[in-house]
Amino acid sequence: MELVLSFERPPAAQTVQAMRQETESQMSAAQIDLEWRKGKRPGKLSPGQADRVYVSFRGSCDAVDSGEDALPVRTRRLAAAKVKDGHVLPIVEVECENVAAMVARADFLKRRHAVGIALGKVLAHELYHVLLESAGHSTRGLAKSAIEAHELTGQSRLSEEDCERLRRARH
Ligand SMILES: [Zn+2]
Repeated sequence: MELVLSFERPPAAQTVQAMRQETESQMSAAQIDLEWRKGKRPGKLSPGQADRVYVSFRGSCDAVDSGEDALPVRTRRLAAAKVKDGHVLPIVEVECENVAAMVARADFLKRRHAVGIALGKVLAHELYHVLLESAGHSTRGLAKSAIEAHELTGQSRLSEEDCERLRRARH
């Protein structure tokens, strides 16, 4: 599956690297290989073509410490897959600043990495919607409707069952 990325404000290479590794790790558990490239999405897309997913990152993903504590969960939207006429489209929008705000303070380099991992988990969550063409959620793991801050940077993964659903959807 190909992921076509566009950044409003390109983040640090280290952040992108950590994000890619995290999303790849999550999706490989469902035997889904990812290819990455940069590019803009075309004006018109049809549903049911999930082989190429367009991911746009809004705002700055860079690990600037706002000086505030990490925000509590459920306060802001982190990302969403576009839905049109009841169909989930292969279009994902990530709100970088909101994701970065969920990541606790840390020194500069650690934080860049941690924000990348958080972005990778958020992206895996949205790919779950796109691949299953469903806005539904799971009760466990990364496909839950609300992900807590500590889960974004911790070990949280898609559950076994969700990986199995993704495998079946793809193969
Ligand atoms: Zn969701």
